Amino acid sequence: MTDPVPHRAEIVVDVAAIRHNVRILKDLVSVDGPVQVMTVVKADGYGHGMVESAAAAREGGADWLGVATIDEALALRAAGDRGPLLCWLSAPGDDFAAAVTAGVEVTAYTVAELDEVAAIGGARVQLKVDTGLSRGGAGRADWRALFAAAAAHEAAGRLRVTGIWSHFAASDEPAHPANDAQETAFREALRLADDAGLDPEVTHLANSAAAILRPSSHFDLVRCGIASYGLDPAPGVSPRLGLRPAMTVRARLVMSKAIAAGDGVSYGHTWRAGHDTTVGLVPAGYGDGIPRAAGNAASVLVGDSLRPIRGRVCMDQFVVDLQGELPPTGTEVILLGAGDQGEPTAQDWADAVDTISYEIVTRVGGRLVRRHV
Ligand code: PLP
Repeated sequence: MTDPVPHRAEIVVDVAAIRHNVRILKDLVSVDGPVQVMTVVKADGYGHGMVESAAAAREGGADWLGVATIDEALALRAAGDRGPLLCWLSAPGDDFAAAVTAGVEVTAYTVAELDEVAAIGGARVQLKVDTGLSRGGAGRADWRALFAAAAAHEAAGRLRVTGIWSHFAASDEPAHPANDAQETAFREALRLADDAGLDPEVTHLANSAAAILRPSSHFDLVRCGIASYGLDPAPGVSPRLGLRPAMTVRARLVMSKAIAAGDGVSYGHTWRAGHDTTVGLVPAGYGDGIPRAAGNAASVLVGDSLRPIRGRVCMDQFVVDLQGELPPTGTEVILLGAGDQGEPTAQDWADAVDTISYEIVTRVGGRLVRRHV
């Protein structure tokens, strides 16, 4: 990249890549008939910027946007988004009225939530059933009661049940037995909902991995987060589909200098030079979401060369081993990106620090400037 970067590190988000990825996902899931796509833009668009990611997703053909909280949904409305929008992490006492007024569809897990939403009048509500993740959603023993309450509210004109949905526990492992079990349970829930007289507009179960790897789970709609940003929901999947990582994190070398054999590097001297060498300083640290665990574990691209991080990552900075070279101050450092210039990917960082790419891109930020191109 040739654009000037500020003194500190920056996050560059390629919104065209998000548009492209959403388009590919939509084409993929619609091969055997139309399936709607919800782009998940919670947690600030997985660190890519919620509003900009949402706009790019809509341009790429996203029928829906999905977020966790009512606050996130209202922020999208404040930014001008007017399309179908679902939020799913709320509890009795939350500001459902604000969501309903803004035309946001809310998710109910319990009869108590339904009653609260029904009292507002005019809400479009989706019901979440727990089919095996044991996280949010009505447990199997409560499905009938939830459906009966929803049907009664609907019959009285107090709300409209627009959707019924659930979420996979292990769709990134296609052979995991939980996938079949959850899909079977979801079909059972839909049967019970039908028995109760509900007629939702959309039913949905699949996230990115299931959208790509498990067509039987598509139902009316798939909810894609990570793949929309070009990252792999399961090993090797995204490159095969031509999905493009949207995020690059880069900086400029603050200094480079020689150190002597035996010198310890960074706090605690967890790495010592085995011979005379050179090191460089990169101005981003755990205060900017760079994982501290990357010390002595990850590498970054300095100029044209992959250089290992030595010693502990500090709050604002880390040290790389320049292996005898002394590139000038201002040399470009690419911390992570699409990988096509030899830089590490978010997945490489995840592997290095024993996490998932979701956590890498969602946490990077802090003081870093974020630029959309
Ligand atoms: N649906 C729900 C309810 C989620 O919480 C998430 C994200 O965690 C997604 C869909 C998107 O998942 P993914 O990023 O794996 O596509």
